[in-house]
Amino acid sequence: MISAEKAIECIVANVQPLGTTTVSLHRALHRVLAENVVASENIPPFDNAGMDGFAVRDDDVRAVPASLRVVGEIPAGVNPAKEIAPGEALRIMTGAKIPNGCTAVVQQEWTEIINREEVKILRSVQRGHNIRRAGSDVERGATVLSAGMRIRSQETGILASMGKEFVEVYRVPTIAVLTTGSEIVDIHDKIPEGKIRNSNRYVLSALIAEAGCELKTIAHADDNEADLRNKLIEGMRADILITSGGVSVGQYDLVPKLFTELGVEILFSKVNIRPGMPLIFGKRGATVLFGLPGNPVSGMVTFMEFVRPAIFRMMGITSVGKKYTLRAKMGHRITTKDGKRNFLRGILEDQNGVLTARTTGSQISNILTSLSKANCLIIIPENIDEVNPGEDVEVELLI
Ligand code: AMP
Ligand code: MG
Repeated sequence: MISAEKAIECIVANVQPLGTTTVSLHRALHRVLAENVVASENIPPFDNAGMDGFAVRDDDVRAVPASLRVVGEIPAGVNPAKEIAPGEALRIMTGAKIPNGCTAVVQQEWTEIINREEVKILRSVQRGHNIRRAGSDVERGATVLSAGMRIRSQETGILASMGKEFVEVYRVPTIAVLTTGSEIVDIHDKIPEGKIRNSNRYVLSALIAEAGCELKTIAHADDNEADLRNKLIEGMRADILITSGGVSVGQYDLVPKLFTELGVEILFSKVNIRPGMPLIFGKRGATVLFGLPGNPVSGMVTFMEFVRPAIFRMMGITSVGKKYTLRAKMGHRITTKDGKRNFLRGILEDQNGVLTARTTGSQISNILTSLSKANCLIIIPENIDEVNPGEDVEVELLI
């Protein structure tokens, strides 16, 4: 049995980013940059007004109120022809280019417009007031975005302002899902006595979609060697094959045996965690394989903790393995006493300004509703047996 930490290290060491491809900017959301983006232009490209108001010379508004002659206006998008001479002002709109001679923009709210030719400036301003300098957001030549960053909405804006119509990104892994178990029927089937519906199929495909990946195939096999073997072989054509169920010690838990028979190099097959201990990670050629336990909560937790980092690494994200957790105060006493890293389904809420965590109740690994009530996982490390009210815990938000 391997620790959760070692399991992540093993995944990071054995999974490599896939190749790269070019996509147009409008298809780039959630993809991972495979190039450093160096600014070919300044953003903003020219000094411009930060507010609607009057372009002035700061010297002219030392003593206020100051009466200035309005000699014209500069709408956004216009290259100003006029300059400002002493005693003059130009009406200016947000985003418009700053005219020569102007050293500050006084917002309209601080002025009194006497008529078209005259404005009274009511407040004195410093040089540079309300002027957004060329290159103040991004300077030409600077590396604005680095390879390995996931493109979020804000990055699409930066790429657009750089004029990047096409972006070099990593390829997204294709994923095959194979659920197993002779007791499982699909949602449109009648449920005979002794059978249950296949919820993992839908949870896994949802998790894969959330991770931004492509589902190559999705299949189900009964606990029957021949059926399972054929479907495993088919699934191994994807970059990642995820199986669900059949990895424990039951008589019909055939996945480990067939993995070995089909030449999968098993890198670990048990992780010291709860839920989800019987988790298999292996490789066969370029395919990465995960055998997840069948219990719905175990499957989802092991996906989030171990499969998702592998997916992110293949997608080229460089920060894989870094933890993004919060500290919270435990709201009640909990005991684990099993020497495992526990991932408890939790509810994180603000109680009088204190971030407080409590569990959703029963932590049995088939209770999927308790994961639905949860907004976080409370992580109790291997060496901690109990946590008392008010003590610190580490929590991971469920998104
Ligand atoms: P297994 O890992 O195959 O021993 O399954 C553990 C438990 O999870 C059993 O109670 C199974 O019935 C249940 N289970 C397995 N696969 C699924 C599935 N696809 N959907 C819902 N429950 C499942
Ligand atoms: Mg089973």
